[in-house]
Amino acid sequence: MASERVNYLPHVQSLRCRACSREYPVEPVYVCDFCFGPLEVSYDYEAVSRSISRKSIESGPHTLWRYDDLLPVGREYAVDIGAGMTPLIRSNNLAGEFGLHEVWLKNDSANPTWSFKDRVVSVASTKALEFEFEVLACVSTGNLAGATAAHGARAGMKTLVFVPGDLESGKIVGAAVYGPTLVAVKGNYDQANRLCSELGDERRWAFVNINMRPYYSEGSKTLGYEIAEQLGWKAPDHIVTPVASGSMFTKVWKGLNEFAELGLIDGVNTRMHVAQPEGCSPVSRAFLDGHTHARPVVPDTVAKSLAIGDPADAFYALRIARESGGTAVIVPEHEVAEGMKLLADTEGIFTETAGGVTVSALRRLAKDGVIKPGESVVALITGNGLKTLELMDPYVDPVSIDPTVESFDANVDGRVS
Ligand SMILES: *Cc1c(COP(=O)(O)O)cnc(C)c1O
Ligand SMILES: [Zn+2]
Repeated sequence: MASERVNYLPHVQSLRCRACSREYPVEPVYVCDFCFGPLEVSYDYEAVSRSISRKSIESGPHTLWRYDDLLPVGREYAVDIGAGMTPLIRSNNLAGEFGLHEVWLKNDSANPTWSFKDRVVSVASTKALEFEFEVLACVSTGNLAGATAAHGARAGMKTLVFVPGDLESGKIVGAAVYGPTLVAVKGNYDQANRLCSELGDERRWAFVNINMRPYYSEGSKTLGYEIAEQLGWKAPDHIVTPVASGSMFTKVWKGLNEFAELGLIDGVNTRMHVAQPEGCSPVSRAFLDGHTHARPVVPDTVAKSLAIGDPADAFYALRIARESGGTAVIVPEHEVAEGMKLLADTEGIFTETAGGVTVSALRRLAKDGVIKPGESVVALITGNGLKTLELMDPYVDPVSIDPTVESFDANVDGRVS
């Protein structure tokens, strides 16, 4: 496709089927015609290794685009509102609560639309412009809606966002504000996703997580790259990851392993742990039952951002969890809000439900001795609590006083926590 924006990079080879390895040209396609396996971007790592180094990365922009040697599109025309290079914060207090010494919090709630989804959409929307799409679309469990609407606005594209009808208002407003066509589907995510797959076949839209999925998912690798770079060019002993479709989980792993292959880090001995809420835990369930595939469920969870009952990347996530020596946790529903509250109380970070799932899973893994006190662990805090305010209602109880010292002394004094 001819375009003034074309900046095909020499290191991007093809799309390759993850199941049967058949190759396809770099186009907006996502499924293997032969075996229906998912397509993935493949790179010429020899070419990459000639251009990339710790130094070249460190001198790049302070966004995920510093890693564009390992992305399917270059940074020259990037749709860049600042996704990536979020803080990696060493835990002071939470680690102590759990009897651990080295806990790191990767705070992806600090992204431009307050979730990790800005990473995937920044890459997918840039690729969509290169392919000369005019419409940027997505089907979202919540956070993707805001990320797509914002990047579409920045790119000057029309945007079309599908969400399940029961979404939190923070996520609806957090998408609507950027002016997309916002479609609330009466049904759950999996139903909306099926609808969008049908719609997408007929029209020329860049559906970031359907026909653009091979490019979209590559954006998640940058989370792995940043963790390694921010730890001083090494991989941690453990990573605890909230899982919805499983894409992020597989790509964090891919990112770390690419860094090792390119000699940017010494090796990867990271154990990858899946965290899911009880009301939607098909991947964790399959792991614990020893299955290679997830059995689809109908989600019923407060962690709506993770409510995918039929996760596309379950098979690959399960394989990585096992190969890496990781495990899987099913977090009881009441521990989702508890995890959110605990992180806020101990570290001053307000995360959404997915982060609550991660924190509670970390507690479980420490308690069970899966993560040992001397080992390093990174917990992925993937979204911001201001989008799921409802969950914190039980904890909100201000003391009401008259504007007088007497009233303060009578009602508050001595109750400062
Ligand atoms: C989308 C999302 C995830 C995980 O997404 P995958 O579909 O598994 O890649 C995790 N946390 C939050 C907050 C999300 O929005
Ligand atoms: Zn195939």
